Amino acid sequence: IYIFNFIVSIVLFFVFCFIYKNQYLIQTRNDVLNKEVTRRTRQLDKAFRKLKDKNKELYTLAHIDSLTKIRNRRSFFIESEEALNSAIKNDKNLCILMIDLDYFKLINDKYGHAIGDKVLIEFCFIVNSIIDDGTIFGRIGGEEFCITFFDKDIEIVENIAEKIRNNCASKQIILENNEILNFTVSMGLSCRDNFDDIDKILQKSDELLYEAKETGRNRLIRVHR
Ligand code: GH3
Ligand code: MG
Ligand code: MG
Repeated sequence: IYIFNFIVSIVLFFVFCFIYKNQYLIQTRNDVLNKEVTRRTRQLDKAFRKLKDKNKELYTLAHIDSLTKIRNRRSFFIESEEALNSAIKNDKNLCILMIDLDYFKLINDKYGHAIGDKVLIEFCFIVNSIIDDGTIFGRIGGEEFCITFFDKDIEIVENIAEKIRNNCASKQIILENNEILNFTVSMGLSCRDNFDDIDKILQKSDELLYEAKETGRNRLIRVHR
C-alpha cells in the first residue's frame, strides 16, 4: 500500500507539474496575444482617424471652392436640385439669384490677379454676412455666383439681394499703397413659379442678369409675375 501510494503520489506530482507548465505556457501566450491585439487595435484606430481626415479632405475638395471657401459649382447644383425637389413636394417657393461682378477683367488688368482674388473673397464675405445658414451659396464660374433661397417670398429675396448689391458698392477695399478699390455687382433673380426645373430657373436668372448688364450694371433685375 505504501509503495502504491508513493507511486500514485509521484504520478500525481508529475501530472500536476505537466498541467501547471501547460497553464503557464497558455497564460504567457495569452499575454503575448493580448499585447499584439492591443498594438493592432491602436494601429487600426490610427489608420481609421487618418482615413476620417482624408475623407474630410476629399469632401472639401469635392464640394468647396478652394479660393472663396463657399460651395463649388457641383455642390451648388446638387444642393439646389434637392431644395427644388423639396420645394415642389411641399409647395414652397424657391428663388435663384445670379450675381456677376462688374468689369472684373478690368480689376484684374489694373490691380493684378491677386487683388482680383481678394475682391472675390471680400464679395463672398459680404454675402455670407447677409444670408442665413440654410441658404445655398455657390461659385458657379470665375466671377459668377448663385444663391438659392428656399421658402422665401420674392420680395424678401429682392431686399436681401439689394442689401448685397449696396454693401458691395459701398465697400472700400484698401490696398497696400492705400489706394481704394471699389467694385459693383449685377444680378438677375427668378423663382420656381413657372418652371420646376433648376436649369430653366437659372436660365431665366441669367437672362435677367444679362439685362442688368445691358442697362448699366450695378443693379438687380427680378422676374415679374
Ligand atoms: P462684365 O461686367 O460684363 O461681367 O465684365 P467682366 O470683365 O466682369 O467679365 P469678363 O467675362 O470679360 O471677365 C471675367 C474675368 O474674370 C476674366 C477672368 O480672368 C477673371 N477671373 C475668372 N476667375 C478668376 C479668379 O479666380 N481670380 C481672378 N483674379 N480673376 C478671375
Ligand atoms: Mg463680370
Ligand atoms: Mg462673368
